[in-house]
Amino acid sequence: MLFIYHPLHVILHNISAKSYTLTSKNYSMADIHTDYLIIGGGIAGTTAAETIREHDGEGLIAILTKEDQVLYSRVMLPEYIEGRIHRENVFLRTAEDYAKNRINLFVSDEAIVIDVVRKIVETQKGKIIYFKKLLLASGGTPKPWHVPGSDSLPIIRFQTINDADAFRKQISYAPLKEAVVVGGGFIGLEYINTLLPHGFTVHCFLQESGYWHPYMDETGSQFIERYLMERGVIFHHEREIISLAGNEDGTINVQARGEQAFITGLVAVGIGIMRDLTLFTGLGIEVNRGIKTNSYLEASVPDIWVAGDIAEYYDGILEKYMLIGNWNNAFMQGYVAGINMAASLTGTEKKKEFRHVASYAIDIQKMHVTFLGDIDDEAHEKEIITRTDDKTYYERFFIKNDFLTGAIMINKFEDKTVLERLIRDKVSVTPYRPYLTNPRASLKESIG
Ligand SMILES: Cc1cc2nc3c(=O)[nH]c(=O)nc-3n(C[C@H](O)[C@H](O)[C@H](O)COP(=O)(O)OP(=O)(O)OC[C@H]3O[C@@H](n4cnc5c(N)ncnc54)[C@H](O)[C@@H]3O)c2cc1C
Repeated sequence: MLFIYHPLHVILHNISAKSYTLTSKNYSMADIHTDYLIIGGGIAGTTAAETIREHDGEGLIAILTKEDQVLYSRVMLPEYIEGRIHRENVFLRTAEDYAKNRINLFVSDEAIVIDVVRKIVETQKGKIIYFKKLLLASGGTPKPWHVPGSDSLPIIRFQTINDADAFRKQISYAPLKEAVVVGGGFIGLEYINTLLPHGFTVHCFLQESGYWHPYMDETGSQFIERYLMERGVIFHHEREIISLAGNEDGTINVQARGEQAFITGLVAVGIGIMRDLTLFTGLGIEVNRGIKTNSYLEASVPDIWVAGDIAEYYDGILEKYMLIGNWNNAFMQGYVAGINMAASLTGTEKKKEFRHVASYAIDIQKMHVTFLGDIDDEAHEKEIITRTDDKTYYERFFIKNDFLTGAIMINKFEDKTVLERLIRDKVSVTPYRPYLTNPRASLKESIG
């Protein structure tokens, strides 16, 4: 059977359809049978589907995704907004790629019910999709942000290509070259990166006392902030916006607690992502901050795997559950989940453990920042070593029980490989302490 699926004209093969009547609803519908169903068409879901195809030439594979697009790169969206690449270059797949791999892509539809006993997913548009193996790869969404007045204003959020289109327009039509950025993480830096070249003065509002506090100490936060202040960023520490009001000329009045009101041309918010677990709750699937898995990315219910930003997976290297929001991690998890799903159905291969040191890197106005591994020290159980020459680079190493768990590198990308190896191979750092604490030592040469 062949469907042309409007509006993307994605070619859908091999879906067996028959008339199906829902008892709970007053309509009839075609039901769809798959061997592998994937909820979420981002990098994790798409990689899983393609990996399954490499390992199972026959199985029926379907991806169900809320967005109205084939796979595109969220990582490249800032470059698109900055005008450094064309919109079409953000897309990583074409409809033909899915067709070639015989992967059925259902766009603009959403899983609304999962029945783990009957192995059925029901969608917003009324499809009933049967599965043998299910992957949950539904990612995260920006945390909501509301203050009095904000709901009637075009506040910029940044996750999808549609958000990027809207952001581009707002930059072009902003009535004033002043911008407010709320939040101090990677997305905050992406906003700054995008706005500065367009001539904006950026007011960055942080809840914390310094950028990336507490992951960074004061020296690290100041290293970043000093650099950005020289380029037109004004930091408002421990400050909260309490109301916004739109003016007739399109400008926005900003009132922050403890500050005089001022006027801006746009407001952009990047305060992290949240994982919506409603769909997965009450099914016997263990959820916490994300959907919990073992180190094979298996959920607590048989025949269900989890990959990408939604996964709270057991990290066999760090020996703890991790929740990571980054591209490479999502890609690698999609790959491992794909192998394991195919292995489980075909029985021809062994399942694979997910072992990967996560990293997230950004170039901000030619300053390079990399986060590697686990840099969280909420329990105050880690030893932290800071190494910097105060001018050109800054590094921070997180050590637990004599093993490196994570690192922050500013303008020290060359150390990534060696630090990654120390984490991955669980090498005792004792012999290397003199180098980790010496600002002039080359880690590459001394540790190798
Ligand atoms: C602007 C931006 C820049 C970034 N830059 C970087 C970077 O430089 N480096 C880096 O490492 N990471 C970066 N990231 C993070 C990275 O893009 C994500 O970690 C990664 O895309 C997560 O992939 P995923 O497949 O897990 O989830 P997603 O890409 O979020 O895909 C999940 C998909 O599932 C869909 N979905 C959700 N619920 C349902 C449902 N019920 N039914 C059907 N579909 C559903 C969603 O609509 C979405 O399309 C950036 C993110 C953004 C937004």
